[in-house]
Amino acid sequence: MAQKETKTENIILVTIDGFRWQELFNGADSSFLHNKKLVENTGKYTKRYWNDNLSERREMLLPFIWGTVAAQGQVYGNRAKGCFVNVKNPFWFSYPGYNEILTGFADKRINSNEFGPNPNTGVFEMMNESDAFKGRIATFASWDAFNDILNEKRSGLLVNSGFENVEGLDSDNKINVLNDIQTGLPDIFDGVRLDAVTFNMGFEYLKEKSPRILYLAFDETDDFAHGGRYNDYLNSAHNADDFLKKLWNWVQQNPAYKDKTTLMITCDHGRGEGPDGWKSHGSETAHSDQTWFAVIGPDTPATGEISSGQYYNNQYAKTMAALLGFDYITQNPVGPAIDLVLRK
Ligand SMILES: [Zn+2]
Repeated sequence: MAQKETKTENIILVTIDGFRWQELFNGADSSFLHNKKLVENTGKYTKRYWNDNLSERREMLLPFIWGTVAAQGQVYGNRAKGCFVNVKNPFWFSYPGYNEILTGFADKRINSNEFGPNPNTGVFEMMNESDAFKGRIATFASWDAFNDILNEKRSGLLVNSGFENVEGLDSDNKINVLNDIQTGLPDIFDGVRLDAVTFNMGFEYLKEKSPRILYLAFDETDDFAHGGRYNDYLNSAHNADDFLKKLWNWVQQNPAYKDKTTLMITCDHGRGEGPDGWKSHGSETAHSDQTWFAVIGPDTPATGEISSGQYYNNQYAKTMAALLGFDYITQNPVGPAIDLVLRK
């Protein structure tokens, strides 16, 4: 077997559902912040998220991504600078988007969020069949559809999603509190657990079980946007950024993960433009196929904000596999690995 050429031994993948590239690269939108229909307490949120200076403004919203990932890694999808990221699937909503991220190809059959068990074998399922990764891949997701998206029954992957409790960890006290809390929280988005619970459960699992691949799928940004609640959408993105910071700080202080772990962050679809378009996405909503991704890790040059090229969400599966020295080959037309991520 050929010597592995990459330094990455572990991957943490994080998705932030329907979070737009517009806010990632530009920070909060002032016309939205001052729109009383989208933000009730404009004074409070203008203070929290507005600065006339673009780079300060986006760092107020996402301090970890702009302070650490952009400084030591790469951020893709700033269309104003000439870097484009899009989904390949024609639907521009969640299940087709997650299928594309996790299998590396856009499947036209998957045309509904209620599609049921995924017929496709994704990169995690294929890796879970190898000795090096068997039982070392875990997913914690806010949205309960992830049991189907990763076809938990067939794949044998650990998928904790929706309001499922976590069982079998030694750090019982914290896990029991999390299990109790999620049971008592309102199901405001119908089948979606709040992201802070998903994060803390996944983080406890990481600390105790040392998975080689951890996938955390956050949801709140999408549901708050559908509800037209811009301040909550911003808060959820800001919180997700803080979860990323906590993960990365832990990774870089833990000898089993330090300088051997790549963190990849992306989303399943974009959203429309303007105060109404922003609430929606899907093939009827212009430009909601526009996405972004960010990456930091030992194989990735510190290029910062990428200013050219066209990339697609169908490239992440092969990129993650390549980082781990795994050749992901299927009968399906999988998007190619992103060379720039791997070129250190
Ligand atoms: Zn949505």
